Order: sequence, then structure tokens, then C-alpha cells
Amino acid sequence: MAICGTRFRLFPQASFAAAEVAPETVQIATPARQVGPGPADHRAYTVYPIGKRQPYGISMDLKDNTLSLPPWHGPIYLPALPDAEGHFDYLPPGTKQFEMAHLFGTVRFVIDVWESYFRRPIRWQFGRDFPRLELSILPSLQNAYAGYGFIEVGGHGEGESFVPYSLNFDVIAHEVGHAIIYSELGVPDPEAATGEYFGFHESAADLVSLISSLHFNSVVDDLLLTTRGNLYTLNQVSRMAELSPDEQIRLSSNDRRLSEFSRGWKKEHDLSQPLTGAFFDILVDIFHEELLARELITPSLEEMSDKLLATPHYTSFMQRLFDDAFARDPDGFKMALLRARDILGTYLATTWDLIEKDDLNYVDVAEVFLEVDRQLNGGRFLRLIRGNFDLRDIGWVEVGPQLQPFGSDSHAGSVRTLVPRKS
Ligand SMILES: [Zn+2]
Repeated sequence: MAICGTRFRLFPQASFAAAEVAPETVQIATPARQVGPGPADHRAYTVYPIGKRQPYGISMDLKDNTLSLPPWHGPIYLPALPDAEGHFDYLPPGTKQFEMAHLFGTVRFVIDVWESYFRRPIRWQFGRDFPRLELSILPSLQNAYAGYGFIEVGGHGEGESFVPYSLNFDVIAHEVGHAIIYSELGVPDPEAATGEYFGFHESAADLVSLISSLHFNSVVDDLLLTTRGNLYTLNQVSRMAELSPDEQIRLSSNDRRLSEFSRGWKKEHDLSQPLTGAFFDILVDIFHEELLARELITPSLEEMSDKLLATPHYTSFMQRLFDDAFARDPDGFKMALLRARDILGTYLATTWDLIEKDDLNYVDVAEVFLEVDRQLNGGRFLRLIRGNFDLRDIGWVEVGPQLQPFGSDSHAGSVRTLVPRKS
């Protein structure tokens, strides 16, 4: 990232509520002094409206289904202002201005990460109507949405226990993920929108969040120190919560299979999990390949970690081997993980560039991803990629019908309601 960028302080993970977790200073690519009050730059601007009663989208109390879209023209709280050098990292947590800077800084940080994987700017889906993305803080909203021209965040809980999503990196990054997929794939024809399209959307949003969070030194260091590089451990559901320092990593390292949905699905986030889990395991396997290539683990350890996975011996035996290997070269482990992260990020961005939105299914996602590996890397990871999709039953079962309408906690409903139909 550019050295002359603008500084922000971000909480790398949702555990910000714990007093001891400090925000980490990052730089976004927009040069200092080019981010104005808001914060605002050429891609996005932040508002904290006063007196906004409804979230953007379809107004529920209006019978004519009026679509409410940005910009917000009403009164706003005092925006976050840059310091004399043009940075925002001086703002103290606990203020509305810190919240605004945190929301904006997170969105721009995530965009920088993904534009580096796409190797080009992401052009907003709403670009012909709105030159910039509006970032709006609406505490009465018990959710967060990415829609046509906006990302709007509320929070959860009430009164004293209210936790604002403006300070939650995972939630914001997930919404940027939706915005990226809307922009790269567009919205399918209603007739051609499959359940798997919605599952794919959620999965992509989670992966955007996961990979972006691995751009924080503290997250990578925590993950490696806690697991000593034995990321397979995260798959063992019972130990996940205890071991994973990061909510997004906990969600992504799941063991769900697509065959669970052959009779149908209710929540698109559940349907997304076999796909997200497959990509998480691909990340772990690529990490192992990188460790092998650097001779930080032996081929026999790598082989064992595949075979012993399901046995009781696995945990303690494998952990001891990883403890020793990690202790010998922690920096090498970190380099290998960052390399694996960037390979997966680049493969995913390239896959999203190529995949078609209509009649989308996970098999197509898997096939395009394999093709990307062939084009970019001569098929280096073909075997492990296929193996992981097979393990999730992707390519072996058909997904059943949608069994209940989208709920109020859904993001997918917004695909249908928040995007103005244009001829
Ligand atoms: Zn979502």
C-alpha cells in the first residue's frame, strides 16, 4: 500500500468490546490530504444522519413501496475531520467521529485489498447513477446492508449493550464483499436466480471479510501463535471457539456438506457454508504446500496431517510436530500464510471476474476456479482443489428448493428489493 496514504485506526476483529484489544493503524491508498471531512474521497463518503427513520431500500410504512436511495439530504452529525497532515488516526474511540472514520477506513482498506487482487479498480454496479458509495450509520437498524449506492450499518443489542456495526470489521468487510459481487457479477434475471447464487453471494462476502482480515498483522500473528501453524485444528468444531481468535475464521472453518441441502434450504447463509468451508480448506492446503516448498515442514508431516485428521491421535500428535516446526521458523510460517492468502485472493477475484450470474451453481464456481489455477499456475493445486470440493459433495448432489421466504436478517432479499429494475 502507498507510503503516502492516509492513516486510520481500525479494530481488526469484532472483539473490540474487550478493553485490551487496541485498534491497529493502517494506511489506505488515497493520499493524505485527499480524504476530506466525512471522511470522504473519490470512491466513498460517510454520513451519520440525524433523524433518519428508515433504512435505505423499500420503505415498509409506505404502501406504494417507495424505494429510498442515497444521498441523504437531511441533517448530519459533525463529520470526522482530518488532522493537519491529513490523517484520521488521531480520533479517540468512543466518539461518533471515530465511528465514522472506522467505517470509512474499513471500507477503503477492504477495497484496496481486493483491487490489488483484481489488479484493476472495482467499478461500482451503481456507477451510472451514483459516482460514490454512501456509507451511512443508522443505529436503529439491527442489521447491515449493501444496496444500490450505499452501505448502511446499524448494530445489535439495545441500550447499554448496543454494539455498533460501524466498529465491526467483519460485518463491514462482509458488506463490501456483497457490493463487490453486485459490481462484478450483477444481479441475475429473477427467473435465473438460483439458490446457489444467494449462497455464493454470502460465501463470497464471508471470504472477502476473511481474506481482508488476514491483512492485519495482529490477526495473522494471533492465528499463528494460537495454532502454531496447525490450521487444520480449526476444523474440529468443538475446539474452534476456543482456538480461533477471529470470528470470521471460526465461521469459515466449518465442516458442512452440500448434501445437507439436497432436500432444500432455508437460509442462504447456511447454504453458503459448504462453499466457504471448501475455500477455507483450500487456503489451509495451499498454506501447507507453501510450507513444504520452503522446507518448513516435511512431506511426511504433510501426508500425516491429511490421514490422521479424523482420528483421536490427531490433535496432540500433530500439534507437537507443528509446535516444533513453527518454533524453528515463525517468520517463514508467516510468509507462507501470506503467500497462501494472496494466492486464494487472486484466484477468487479472477473467478468472480469470469463466472456468470445466471443459473449459477457451485459446480460452475469449482470449474472456473480450477481453470483459474490452470491459467495462473499451470494447475499446481488441481488435486487439492478437486479434493476439497469433493469432500463438500460439490459436483455430486443437487441443491433442493428454497423452503421458506427470505427473513428480515437476510442480505439476499436485498438483491431483489434494493436494486432498481432498469430496462
Ligand atoms: Zn451477507
